[in-house]
Amino acid sequence: MIPFLDLKAVNGQYANELKEAASRVIDSGWYIMGDELKSFEAEFATYCDADYCIGVANGLDALTLTLRAWKELGRIKEGDEVIVPSNTYIASILSITENKLTPVLVEPDPQTFNITADNIREKLTSKTRVLLPVHLYGQISEMDNIMSLAREHNLLVLEDCAQSHGASIEGKKAGVWGDAGAFSFYPGKNLGALGDAGAIVTNDKELFDVITALRNYGSHEKYRNQFQGVNSRLDEMQAAFLRVKLRHLDSETEKRRVIANSYLNNIKNNKIELPAVKDREQHVWHLFVIKTPDRIALQSYLTELGIQTLIHYPIPPHKQDAYRNWNDMRFPISEELHSCVLSIPMGPMLHEYEVNKIISAINNFA
Ligand SMILES: *Cc1c(COP(=O)(O)O)cnc(C)c1O
Repeated sequence: MIPFLDLKAVNGQYANELKEAASRVIDSGWYIMGDELKSFEAEFATYCDADYCIGVANGLDALTLTLRAWKELGRIKEGDEVIVPSNTYIASILSITENKLTPVLVEPDPQTFNITADNIREKLTSKTRVLLPVHLYGQISEMDNIMSLAREHNLLVLEDCAQSHGASIEGKKAGVWGDAGAFSFYPGKNLGALGDAGAIVTNDKELFDVITALRNYGSHEKYRNQFQGVNSRLDEMQAAFLRVKLRHLDSETEKRRVIANSYLNNIKNNKIELPAVKDREQHVWHLFVIKTPDRIALQSYLTELGIQTLIHYPIPPHKQDAYRNWNDMRFPISEELHSCVLSIPMGPMLHEYEVNKIISAINNFA
């Protein structure tokens, strides 16, 4: 069986370093908000070329707390509209509704799966205050154009970077184009912890200060609470693991790129559409997503051959029970994408012979 992503093997590469990191934390006697977190925040800020990084409990909280902080700072208020892709993972949208802001769904470019400045422009209203582009599957959105639009209309920009650690345009990484970037370190992400974790990067000192308080009960100083905060801290154990994994992120991304190039150059089947890539640096290949009108047949054919595939995502947000009042809305591009996308194995531990087996299996699919 070729697994979709062999996480045990991914972390197994660094077993010694990870165990050493765990021992260091155990022996330190300090498990929350200590030196490991401070060091990881500094190292991840440097990696992204951001002034500040704030570790939080998960990627959803990274998004939610950033929007919450902008409310606390008086930059946005309940009912304001937030532009978000209609084909994103549900978390992007949950962060908006959790803050009692109004999501405005924008259809993506079906080729790149990301929203564009032109698509966003059509949905701007007098209530639009935030753009929340999602760099889906590892490819950064056209942030140069999106930022020009945002500046023109005085909008805040929160990048959902949960799938795009290290993706960049002309060397400028995901997370530092907008006013803030939210990351997830869920184990299956390109930079994955051994549990839940997330972070926000920003160059905005005020935002940094407010989120730092919000994640810790709204407090900067023990027993003094400035905000009605939450408990969303990135613990020392996960921070120590992430410091190990961060050192290997770029070499893992390089392995993903080799696999993606192999798929792009060699998959040839007129029933399969390959993903569109703008250029090498822009994509970090969190997922390799193909499109086919025969998804059910292709998926079961590949399963029979021992190749595991997944669907990201089978149901669009507007068709979810959680957003029942959107169920009658129509987003034809998203609906079409949700019916034809299939993610084939992708990860740093995939061997060349496995990649070749996947390619010939797909090429022989009739
Ligand atoms: C994974 C993911 C999130 C949420 O991250 P968690 O750490 O699981 O909370 C948010 N947005 C996108 C696009 C994701 O893929």
